Amino acid sequence: MAETLNPRAGIGMTSARTRGRMVERLREQGIRDETVLAAMGTVPRHLFVDQALESRAYEDTALPIGFGQTISNPYIVARMAELARHGEAGQGRALNRVLEIGLGCGYQAAVLAKLAREVVSIDRIAQLVGKTRVRLRELRINNVKPKHGDGMHGARDFAPFDAIVVAAAFPEVPHELLDQLADGGRLVMPRGGAAQTLCVIERQPEGLVERLLEEVKFVPLLPGVA
Ligand code: SAH
Repeated sequence: MAETLNPRAGIGMTSARTRGRMVERLREQGIRDETVLAAMGTVPRHLFVDQALESRAYEDTALPIGFGQTISNPYIVARMAELARHGEAGQGRALNRVLEIGLGCGYQAAVLAKLAREVVSIDRIAQLVGKTRVRLRELRINNVKPKHGDGMHGARDFAPFDAIVVAAAFPEVPHELLDQLADGGRLVMPRGGAAQTLCVIERQPEGLVERLLEEVKFVPLLPGVA
């Protein structure tokens, strides 16, 4: 059969169904925001990883994306998106501008791009930004702006952001990122070193309010560019 002769065509035919199963699993794992679940159901995760890993793209696992980095598992991508939208109780809100730190392969940016008018996403690895920029163009995802730089400084020229999603762990929340958060906006990031906790900081009228959630495991946020 053509499917066995050409594995890439095969996964193309089955990926929508496989994504549907992934979405059901996310629901069971506690993701409640239907808009996030719908976004997870449409972004072709298999096209963001190397061809050799395509068949594992919808598993509940982190996968290598080169340069010693990993694409986060689907649950954590959905969870961070849900928190960014204030959607954990069921229905979140649409986002205008979102900042992502850690573009990586662009998968999470593509999910966020379904939920926001514009996503600015920074990565410190120049080659990864170049590769991902081409991928996003090929997939016609036009509302993600990939940027090369040190994300610890954020993207002042585009601030303020309705949400800031940090896809790499650091013990402290970088101050410049908090400065770029809009009123009512949320910063979602893994805090810590060896042991990490997902944290949400919201800019409320009375000040910044922090909440610590579940244990997570991310690659570290590193200073400077590569
Ligand atoms: N969201 C990505 C996964 C990112 S993995 C995806 O969907 O594929 C974490 C990424 O953070 C890596 O690509 C790493 O290069 C990047 N990173 C680490 N420290 C950084 C920093 N200071 N500024 C910008 N990016 C950084």
